[in-house]
Amino acid sequence: MLAKIINGKKFSQEIELGISNKIKMYTKSGRNPPGLSIISIGENPASIVYIQRKKEACQRVGIIFNHWNFSTKTNENQILNLIKKLNTDSLTNGILVQFPIDQKFNSLKIISHINPEKDVDGLHPFNIGCLVQKKPIFRPCTPKGIITLLKKEKINLRSLHSVIVGASNIVGRPMSMEMLLEGCTTTITHRFTKELKRYTKQADILIIAVGKPFFINKSWIKKGSIVIDVGINKLKNNKIVGDVDFISVSSKASYVTPVPGGVGPMTIVSLLENTMIAYEKTKNYLFFSPSCG
Ligand code: NAP
Repeated sequence: MLAKIINGKKFSQEIELGISNKIKMYTKSGRNPPGLSIISIGENPASIVYIQRKKEACQRVGIIFNHWNFSTKTNENQILNLIKKLNTDSLTNGILVQFPIDQKFNSLKIISHINPEKDVDGLHPFNIGCLVQKKPIFRPCTPKGIITLLKKEKINLRSLHSVIVGASNIVGRPMSMEMLLEGCTTTITHRFTKELKRYTKQADILIIAVGKPFFINKSWIKKGSIVIDVGINKLKNNKIVGDVDFISVSSKASYVTPVPGGVGPMTIVSLLENTMIAYEKTKNYLFFSPSCG
């Protein structure tokens, strides 16, 4: 058996094309293009790469991209003041803080200052709350991208047992909510899970977001399962790999996502989609007041 490779790059390009056409239509009719502002703190090498990819994607579709980088010596109030300014800037539809940030900053406080209507990363407590309440508005980009990927691949998720490895705020936790919404029986595992393999081997669909290269090989999975690799890890030779031993797993799974070219492009295109949701909500001055759904 050789798993089918789910091509996130191809799907993301199809979605990008639709977004780009929409933006052309809006701007032809005299509207300003959508605007996305990214705030970063410090010089995390991985974050620099991610921000560059987001910038290139915005440029491809016609979203105006702005980036503010603060030094780690910055006073938190300066960051909060910028967010307050962007919250009321009519040309800024989406605001995103690039994580991780230095632990000396209060990340929850920073996210909470973003206007939920512009929270295109879907991490504001209001938006996470709406997702938990089964009425999502802005959905965190990586889990949203994975659901889109599975739907594009026409995989029926209902009643499957999904096992998620990793319980971070940006991937594992919101992913578990997305899988519940799809009708999966969902198990979420983490660093303190005992006998992790016992769970991964039961998964019809296994989603791994741990950040450890080759963490999962074929001995950890059930035959015919769907394996979604979220991890992005840089090896000493600069090669980028996921959390999954791709060759090993491909010989046993039914579907597998590659790294690069799987979940990564879908995360970025989900950010573009969320920016469009924010932009289109303001088109008719139809702001959604802080109520879900
Ligand atoms: P994170 O915040 O470090 O979270 C990692 C999670 O894995 C934590 O919940 C941690 O458990 C858990 N974990 C660590 N060691 C484990 C073990 N031995 N067994 C089981 N669980 C374990 O990382 P993240 O932000 O979620 O990112 C995870 C990976 O995905 C990274 O490689 C990152 O670069 C990548 N990523 C990719 C995309 C994309 O678009 N493809 C987007 C975001 C992130 P505890 O909670 O107990 O610490």
